[in-house]
Amino acid sequence: MMRRKNDNKRYFTRMGTRKKVHAFVRVKPTDDFAHEMIKYGDDNKSIDIHIKKDLQKGVVNNKQTDWSFKLDGVLHNASQDLVYETVAKDVVAQALDGYNGTIMCYGQTGAGKTYTMTGTTENYKHRGILPRALQQGETNRIIASHTMNKNSSRSHCIFTIYVEAHSRTLSDEKYITSKINLVDLAGSERLKKSGSEGRVLKEATYINKSLSFLEQAIIALGDQKRDHIPFRQCKLTHALKDSLGGNCNMVLLTNIYGEASQLEETLSSLRFASRMKLVTTEPAINEKYDAERMVKNLEKELALLKQELAIHDSLANRTLVNYDPMDEIQIAEINSQVRRYLEGTLDEIDIINLRQIQEVFNQFRVVLSQQEQEVELTLRRKYTLIDKNDFAAISAVQKAGLMDVDGHLVGEPDGQGFGLGVTPFSAKPGKKAKSKKMFKEQLRPSTPPPKPVAFEDFKNERGSEINRIFKENKSILNERRKRASETTQRINAIKREMDVTKEALNFQKSLREKQGEYENKGLMIIDEEEFLLILKLKDLKKQYRTEYQDLRDLKAEIQYCQHLVDQCRHRLLMEFDIWYNESFFIPEDIQVSLKPGSSIRPGMVPISRIMSLGEDDQDKFSQLQQTELPEGPDSFSFYNAKVKTEQKHNYLKTMMGFQQAHRK
Ligand code: ADP
Ligand code: MG
Repeated sequence: MMRRKNDNKRYFTRMGTRKKVHAFVRVKPTDDFAHEMIKYGDDNKSIDIHIKKDLQKGVVNNKQTDWSFKLDGVLHNASQDLVYETVAKDVVAQALDGYNGTIMCYGQTGAGKTYTMTGTTENYKHRGILPRALQQGETNRIIASHTMNKNSSRSHCIFTIYVEAHSRTLSDEKYITSKINLVDLAGSERLKKSGSEGRVLKEATYINKSLSFLEQAIIALGDQKRDHIPFRQCKLTHALKDSLGGNCNMVLLTNIYGEASQLEETLSSLRFASRMKLVTTEPAINEKYDAERMVKNLEKELALLKQELAIHDSLANRTLVNYDPMDEIQIAEINSQVRRYLEGTLDEIDIINLRQIQEVFNQFRVVLSQQEQEVELTLRRKYTLIDKNDFAAISAVQKAGLMDVDGHLVGEPDGQGFGLGVTPFSAKPGKKAKSKKMFKEQLRPSTPPPKPVAFEDFKNERGSEINRIFKENKSILNERRKRASETTQRINAIKREMDVTKEALNFQKSLREKQGEYENKGLMIIDEEEFLLILKLKDLKKQYRTEYQDLRDLKAEIQYCQHLVDQCRHRLLMEFDIWYNESFFIPEDIQVSLKPGSSIRPGMVPISRIMSLGEDDQDKFSQLQQTELPEGPDSFSFYNAKVKTEQKHNYLKTMMGFQQAHRK
């Protein structure tokens, strides 16, 4: 494991651009170098191979005699130092910055793979890439040890250096991890040449296979269109899974012989190198977060900020301000403050700190939602709320003629409804369905019937007696109204006749005055016609008075009857609502507490809201007739206002009684 200082710039180059696999060739020094066959390019980045005609027999391709391989560098007579500089130094440096790196030596047995990778132990100058990589890490404080195993030519050897780099700046919680794989591959020589037999042949076959799998895997990694990489085909590719291609820097160093006799293998190795050179990779940083360091930093920061707050508080003459999280008691206190604030008994809530402000808002939300529920509960106790989205129920109510399209009850000019058509607050279909589950399904319909429909049932069942009385009272009221109307008509007729008579009398009087008056001892003498008119007028006046008295009596009776009818209607609807709630809404266990003798009675319907319920056409007709009443002390508007006041009074009395009963 290596540790090194982080520099900040690496965070800005997290994702590298796509890179090609770097392919180098190292030629093993020899006194017998095939100068005529192996030529290097001027830039040392290419190798040209030329095979003489006479040597061509037995060569792979009978026709081709010249090859040119483009590479990233050719290392000829290069020292271990130069090889490291050229091939490994950047890869190791980048690994210390968080990029995985892989350096592989490929080539036939004896070409110098192990020499390149490990070097010789005897001579320091001849040490290979591995000890130098460790050394490079060491300059950045190395915590590592390794054993150099003598590796066989017939096996692959992978050295992995794990790097973990933390910043020297303690505040930096990011750290990087990376791996350097130094791979000394088994000999790549072809079977024919090695002349292997038996176990060795088997091994050689396996090695060749694994090398070709390695090639396949690297090529697949370089192909962006491929999503499957054949890593599992052999141990080698599996072991190098997260270090090949992909997000890592990769270098392939091909070791070749310089002698003519090895040219065939050299050609094969160079072909492999040029294929690898085309593969691209995308190096990326492996970044992690040091949780422990992060916690420590945050704790430090917190302690510092608390100190800072304490200083500010003492400067502002604020003492004993607690910034710790609140406990239940403190939260309950804030809840009570919010309630008192809403009630108006508390003028303001002192601001203490941010946490407290947030809790105040939080408690506002708590109180608000509680109040919403309470309001809804109260409304549900008083009214039957129909869901505005429950079109079936609404249309049933409309059908029954109790509600117009706007959700107002028929005959309610002020638009105040029955409570029908308005579903307040959180009453949503889902919620309703939930509460319904509490009821015995087999006894009750899954959806309560619309009120008007249920009302008809109620009138035939539990409400039959009160409904009978209600109807009786109403018919008496209607009879009285009819009589009052007839009397009014008669009075009007008498009045008209009185007017006619008065006119006739005036005419007679003026006629008499023209003809001259006869007086006998202070007594006026009038003719018979005038006399009869006077008698008639007198009789009409008497009739008028009698009828007027009758009408007044009738009106008093009507008022009384109306009062009875209103009371009966009130009772009827109240009983109906109780019955409706008990039948369709109130869970049976709660119903026990509603039995007679208990103070709670649900289902009250304010009388002012349902005045028109049950009013028939006869009622309306007689009400219309009353508007034709002549002027008098008990004009219709006066009468109407009086009735309304009484109704209001009755309602308030009932409601107060109801509320008192509730408080008990
Ligand atoms: P491989 O691992 O490819 O089979 P080796 O690294 O074992 O080959 O090399 C075979 C022999 O050649 C070793 O004795 C090694 O020291 C020597 N050798 C290889 N390359 C060089 C080189 N560049 N300079 C000096 N000696 C080398
Ligand atoms: Mg070797």
